[in-house]
Amino acid sequence: MIAKQPDSKKQSSKKQGSKKQGFATRAIHAGQEPDPTTGAVNVPIYASSTYVQEEIGKHKGYEYSRVSNPTRDHLETNLAALEGGVAAKVFASGMAAINAVVTMLKSGDHIVAGHNLYGGTPRLFNQVLVNFGLTFTYVDTSDLNAVERALQKNTRLVFLETPTNPLMELCDLRAVSEICHRHGAEVVVDNTFMSPFFQRPIELGADMVIHSTTKFLNGHSDGLGGVVVCTKPEQAEKLAFLQKCAGAIMSPFECWLILRGVKTLAVRMLQHDCSGRKVADYLAKHKKVQKVFYPGLPDHPQHELAKRQMTGFGSMIAFETGSLANANKMLREVRVCSLAESLGGVETLISHPATMTHAAVGEAGRRKIGITDGMVRISVGIEDVDDILADLDQALAAI
Ligand SMILES: *Cc1c(COP(=O)(O)O)cnc(C)c1O
Repeated sequence: MIAKQPDSKKQSSKKQGSKKQGFATRAIHAGQEPDPTTGAVNVPIYASSTYVQEEIGKHKGYEYSRVSNPTRDHLETNLAALEGGVAAKVFASGMAAINAVVTMLKSGDHIVAGHNLYGGTPRLFNQVLVNFGLTFTYVDTSDLNAVERALQKNTRLVFLETPTNPLMELCDLRAVSEICHRHGAEVVVDNTFMSPFFQRPIELGADMVIHSTTKFLNGHSDGLGGVVVCTKPEQAEKLAFLQKCAGAIMSPFECWLILRGVKTLAVRMLQHDCSGRKVADYLAKHKKVQKVFYPGLPDHPQHELAKRQMTGFGSMIAFETGSLANANKMLREVRVCSLAESLGGVETLISHPATMTHAAVGEAGRRKIGITDGMVRISVGIEDVDDILADLDQALAAI
């Protein structure tokens, strides 16, 4: 099976001309029109902190770059078009984007969050934001009854990832949005793992989407950033106000990197998906691998949901080697794969969640949700897949 091009009639965002442009076309052209003064086909890096004014209060729409910057505006237009939102706001990192979303709330508000999130997210919630009167309840968001039971009168947000990191559990986005809206809570989806190429939560009912653009959107492991995509102009206004007040904005250079990276998102994701499936199949058959977590495998408990709400399965795979010692034996041997945190780059990155991305969750927390010491996570890159497979083969032989 080949990943489907994700554009289909069911897309609902606004039309351009008579026919809505396809995803790859939007990735290259939305917000990226040639520069009107010079004709440059790439959006320039506007490295300017301030902007000249003709007279008091008369300017071209820009006053100071914490508030707004032309390079940033172009990127925000582009990312809103890719997720099908009305606007987007970009931040200095994925964590800054998540922090901005939660600081839209106020003391006394309650947030329901997935129990298996990127490790930095519960660290922000439990070690920083709880000190400001926000409360959090963690649930398995693949269990819709558990989500509904956790909703309180003061629940304002449900924050989730699907698939989760690194266990690759899915949440039914259409169903969870329906439940949350019935109770007056908004749904925020961290869509970093799938990118808008394979999954667009807003079309399924989500109220906001966030990304660490550090990962697939930029795709080249050379810049940090985050984005919040909004469905309502009021959300964007509030986030713009937070950018101005708190200042955790993305720099013009980083904006330019992502504008460049996103132009190849469609072709990169197709290759990530194609190689991801091959690596998952290989691992599933390997004698030394005890379990593989990948929604594209027919024995994944939510394989049918994955086929329904995503247009591909992506390249994030977790697998069980049996012990910390086994994980380390193989991770020491990899040569094509790089042992490193992060994901979504053109290069294959392999990591150990228990000591890396999910160290802050603590041993008890990891045990509760099923992240073991023997678990290894791989973000399959776009090198020749035979080289990736050969590398994994020789590394697994060390176990
Ligand atoms: C990396 C990551 C984040 C945090 O983003 P940064 O850019 O590192 O701040 C949040 N969510 C997910 C799913 C991630 O992978």
